Amino acid sequence: MAEKKRIYLSCPTMHGEEQKFVQEAFDTNWVAPLGPNVTKFEEEMAAYTGCGHAAALSAGTAAIHLAVKLLGIKQDDVVFVSSLTFSATCNPISYEKAKPVFIDSEPDTWNMSPKALRKAFEKYPNPKAVVLVHLYGTPAKLDEIMEICAEHNVPLIEDAAESLGSTYKGQMTGTFGRIGIYSFNGNKIITTSGGGMMVSQEEALTKEATNLATQARDAARHYQHSKIGYNYRMSNVVAGIGRGQLIHIEEHKKIKNDIYKQYTNAFADIEDISMNPMNPDGDANNWLSCILLKEGCKVTPNEIMDALDAENIESRPIWKPMNLQPVFADCDFFSHNDEGISVGEDIFNRGLCMPSDIKNTPEDMELIINTVRKLFA
Ligand SMILES: *Cc1c(COP(=O)(O)O)cnc(C)c1O
Repeated sequence: MAEKKRIYLSCPTMHGEEQKFVQEAFDTNWVAPLGPNVTKFEEEMAAYTGCGHAAALSAGTAAIHLAVKLLGIKQDDVVFVSSLTFSATCNPISYEKAKPVFIDSEPDTWNMSPKALRKAFEKYPNPKAVVLVHLYGTPAKLDEIMEICAEHNVPLIEDAAESLGSTYKGQMTGTFGRIGIYSFNGNKIITTSGGGMMVSQEEALTKEATNLATQARDAARHYQHSKIGYNYRMSNVVAGIGRGQLIHIEEHKKIKNDIYKQYTNAFADIEDISMNPMNPDGDANNWLSCILLKEGCKVTPNEIMDALDAENIESRPIWKPMNLQPVFADCDFFSHNDEGISVGEDIFNRGLCMPSDIKNTPEDMELIINTVRKLFA
């Protein structure tokens, strides 16, 4: 029997322009690290997001690490960070030997709970920063979070790795904080195979990020260094892929929105299934569509994953919250709930990321949907 076609969670979709920009890099021999594609990609990202300044980097993780450095976060400093996320959000805090303190999600958008954040400030009045994630592309409750940050005069870092193109009250996620970061990893809404970007309204910050990302060279003819630097810059070839992808981001977003709508409609009559909630003040890029099973539902996320797997369809558990990770067992955590398990743990237990690849055909979507529906028949 022929192998069943693989249906993906989210994988690269190339259009052709990417190759044109890469070809240009080859033709001009700008294969070496920096070059016109990097500068142009930064300008184009700054224009697209409406954030003044951008620094192209080797990964979203590198961008978060540099954000941590730029805000002067050092050993034993407390940093508040979303707990329901991918480990890359908080690992850079640990690179600097600072202390991540995890903040639970609220149930309305699955993002950082303002209530839990307030609890954290009661115990730790002087954190060095708040790192906020827009999970699966859904904008967080930015007004509430920003208000709390402003009250305590603490800078916000926005991890918008998953939410490029998502807006909150008409403004792009990633541009609200003092520093925002995006990722172009292989499964993100646009990809450069691997890469990241830092954005800020403060040019001094992106300039300093660029300097730190290129081994922190001082302005001298010889190689002089007054700081420890990194090799975190994006290459000119990779930036070419990014330029080609950025042309198509609105199209990617539209298809992701459609996928979310299709799942919403397809499962509307199944009481046990709801979709990941949207923020009414925002417009999400729907990077990944997720389902949430009702409490007490007899079907488990694992059974759905197994059924999809049997059809060669990729799905993924919800990120396991950072406060439940062995490596962060010693870190403090603030729950949204006053009793029982946290919101993040509950979503982890009952949720599942559905295949959200923009190349999925109507037939693919039908197979995915029917495979899930069968379990609820
Ligand atoms: C993908 C991702 C990152 C890391 O980005 P890389 O480019 O893979 O380093 C950080 N945070 C979140 C929430 C992500 O999903």
